[in-house]
Amino acid sequence: MSLAVFFSIVVSLMLCVSYVCYCIVMHAHSKDYAKISKTSTFYCLKCDSVYVSRTGEKSKACPKCGYKNTQMKF
Ligand SMILES: [Zn+2]
Repeated sequence: MSLAVFFSIVVSLMLCVSYVCYCIVMHAHSKDYAKISKTSTFYCLKCDSVYVSRTGEKSKACPKCGYKNTQMKF
């Protein structure tokens, strides 16, 4: 085996390992974004508190004062 073939194999293996690591990291990030996209953030106009809902509701009552607020849009 010549030196050029050896290095081409080593470089190919390193590229494959890098690609697998990249795929694993991107899969983990996509799970995080999926969790965040399902939550809704609310700002209470009555008592100035901020709260979230994990069920994706469009409006929800404030846990402190009970005032029903609509979802914040960013
Ligand atoms: Zn409130």
